[in-house]
Amino acid sequence: MKAHVLDGKAFAAKLRVTIAGHVAALHQAQGIVPGLAVVLVGEDPASQVYVRSKGKMTREVGMQSFEHRLPDTTSEADLLALIAQLNADPAVHGILVQLPLPGHLNSDLVINSIDPAKDVDGFHISNVGLLGTGQKAMVPCTPLGCLMLLRDHHGSLAGKHAVVIGRSNIVGKPMAQLLLGDSCTVTIAHSRTADLAAMVRQADIVVAAVGRAQMVPGDWIKPGATVVDVGINRIATDDGGTRLVGDVDYDSCAAVAGAIAPVPGGVGPMTIACLLANTVTACCRANGLAEPA
Ligand code: NDP
Repeated sequence: MKAHVLDGKAFAAKLRVTIAGHVAALHQAQGIVPGLAVVLVGEDPASQVYVRSKGKMTREVGMQSFEHRLPDTTSEADLLALIAQLNADPAVHGILVQLPLPGHLNSDLVINSIDPAKDVDGFHISNVGLLGTGQKAMVPCTPLGCLMLLRDHHGSLAGKHAVVIGRSNIVGKPMAQLLLGDSCTVTIAHSRTADLAAMVRQADIVVAAVGRAQMVPGDWIKPGATVVDVGINRIATDDGGTRLVGDVDYDSCAAVAGAIAPVPGGVGPMTIACLLANTVTACCRANGLAEPA
């Protein structure tokens, strides 16, 4: 039997409609328009695509988008000065600094200079600590999107064994924290994990966040397990073009899994929708208003 497809594109479209409703209600009742500032340093082509797409979606749900494009020669002092200005701007409720930053800039220093209340990416050390201790945090968008897909499919995740492949600060670790928060038994695997295949075969839920094209084959998947593929990898095709694939081999995994989030159309669209949701949340918190459920 073929796996149920976790359709992140459709889920994210519904989520954006809900968010647009919250934005309209905020405007009507309070005269407030949530604002998201995105800062891009340098010319990285993938980052430029992400930033353009974030700006477009922000405007589409009725929020204000502030885009700051800086040359890759920007000094740390100038970048920190811009962030200080955005921290102080009451029209800006969310600040996102597009990563990766050029090598001469200290990403940790830059991210930790964002007001934690405006840190809609959830990467500030305060938000990492709040999430890790089960307190109200800004939650990183990609893992949050994965969690929403999993909850939507399973309802309760309690007692399930989740194997997260990848331990990055932006995906693997916060994903593990969120799954733990939903009472999964969580294993975090990485490049030094011994016998990854045997580990993954025990999983009821597999989240692959590795950055290696089609690395997870179907015979690693326990029959009926749920597979969430976070990877975004561009590979060459026979006709000389390229296409996007994830970190799992889709066809062989879909033949065994109970449910699978595809690439593209799974986690990717959820990430941006969660960024918009986090911005509305930040706006409500900043104004002492009830947060959308
Ligand atoms: P990182 O490169 O920061 O982390 C990759 C992780 O994978 C590391 O923990 C690494 O282990 C682990 N790893 C590498 N090789 C292996 C291996 N052979 N076996 C087991 N584990 C391995 O990547 P990110 O977390 O930033 O991103 C992961 C993927 O998700 C990428 O494809 C990225 O493009 C995608 N992504 C997608 C997003 C979306 O919106 N859909 C958003 C963010 C990322 P170690 O720590 O030991 O080196």
